[in-house]
Amino acid sequence: MIKKNGKVIIAGGGLAGISASVFLNEMGYEVELYESTPKLGGRTFSYFDKITNRVYDNGKHIFAGWYKETLKLLELLGTKDKIFMNDNLYVKFYDENKENYELDCRGIPGSAGLIKAFFKYKKLDINDIFSILKVIYACRYRTNKFLESDNLKELLENTNQTNNAIEYFWKPLSVSIFNTTTENINTKIFSKVIEEAFNDKGNLNLIIPMDSLHNIFIESAQKYFREKSVKLHLSDRIVSVQTSGNKVSYLQDINGNKIEGDAYILAVPFWKANEFTNVFGFNGKYLKPSSIITIHIFTSGDEIIREIFKDEQPMVGFLDTTIDWAFRESDNHFSVVISGTDNIKSPISGKILAECTKEEIFGICISDLIKTLKEFSFPLIENYKIIKEKRATFIADTSSDKLRPGNKSKFDNLYFAGDWTDTGFPSTIESAVRSGRICSKLIDERKY
Ligand SMILES: Cc1cc2nc3c(=O)[nH]c(=O)nc-3n(C[C@H](O)[C@H](O)[C@H](O)COP(=O)(O)OP(=O)(O)OC[C@H]3O[C@@H](n4cnc5c(N)ncnc54)[C@H](O)[C@@H]3O)c2cc1C
Repeated sequence: MIKKNGKVIIAGGGLAGISASVFLNEMGYEVELYESTPKLGGRTFSYFDKITNRVYDNGKHIFAGWYKETLKLLELLGTKDKIFMNDNLYVKFYDENKENYELDCRGIPGSAGLIKAFFKYKKLDINDIFSILKVIYACRYRTNKFLESDNLKELLENTNQTNNAIEYFWKPLSVSIFNTTTENINTKIFSKVIEEAFNDKGNLNLIIPMDSLHNIFIESAQKYFREKSVKLHLSDRIVSVQTSGNKVSYLQDINGNKIEGDAYILAVPFWKANEFTNVFGFNGKYLKPSSIITIHIFTSGDEIIREIFKDEQPMVGFLDTTIDWAFRESDNHFSVVISGTDNIKSPISGKILAECTKEEIFGICISDLIKTLKEFSFPLIENYKIIKEKRATFIADTSSDKLRPGNKSKFDNLYFAGDWTDTGFPSTIESAVRSGRICSKLIDERKY
């Protein structure tokens, strides 16, 4: 492809920066990407255990059918074949009575599949189902005054949701998307997600990566950059943005280099915005972080894995437990995820879960697995690793609205990307990738 004249400098090599680099390159721009750490990926990365030769992610990342920009990015990176999806949403849950419950929309596309699934999902009766449909309808068609509720907890109260509807549908759904409790969820962003999920037939579906985050996003991006001559500078932190009038004149890196381009994108995370207050105009630290804990469990055979992941499905959910989800990673490795761990108390010590020791967290996880699974065999566990990600996401509450910058700055040639920019979506991969795509389109419209 013939390169256009414009040269774009991007600071931040997470998914937002990667997305902006790829989409701008596809449009013919010359791109240079600066990443402060020695690796690409930001909050999506994998560990390599040299002793056991194991690769495991900092946390399982799941997508949904409405992650359209993410799917486009995977296509360009050549890794779209590394994801798993059914023909429509399917989740199997286990509860504390060792019963399992399926929310199975397969076989019928879109929302008709969900209605079929509700009637077979034994945790809900007809009243629960109608109360849920009332909220979905209100969000989908923006018809209801209840959408004026401040947060999701209020919305659920104002629409008289039944206890079962809240515990067995809204809570598992909302914590997995927003990584926090219902009172912390902004109704506007929540209804946007519901609207998006029902916008198109495949949008409800869950998508599960079947390879490491490294292979899906990082290695493939590095290969793309090499082949397409996108210049990547690792371990090269941008320390300041120099402006003159209404334009950015250059970025300065940690080595004192002045880096000049025609347009610039800052794709740094929300907790770094306070280092660039001259352009962001506010202290980005005010967005509140929310943590996720992942427990990687390595087993001596595939017995436990076969017990948990019957039917070849790579993911199961848990109800009435501290743990939320488990994912099949390989024949002798599965991971267990607990979301929003700053708002959960340990059933053992009563301490906030994010502050508990790794031993205590492992104990809680094992006790939940024993409580919910018919034949869970503890002795078959060989080893475990616990990863606490304290700033996994920001909390998309009502106050977050005012703290998310738009993708176009007040400077003529400066743009902002990142999951925390004002994409209208919660703190997700899709928000990050979409922000990069939006910046690339804005730059192309402005023509540099
Ligand atoms: C454990 C965990 C589980 C998650 N699960 C899910 C999930 O299931 N589904 C989902 O959609 N999302 C999930 N997320 C959220 C998702 O990972 C993030 O929303 C997304 O990765 C954010 O990407 P980003 O590019 O906006 O920011 P980041 O990934 O934070 O990238 C910012 C980059 O900028 C770099 N940087 C910072 N300062 C500078 C500087 N001065 N100069 C140069 N570079 C700089 C950083 O080093 C970093 O690489 C999860 C996150 C975690 C941690």
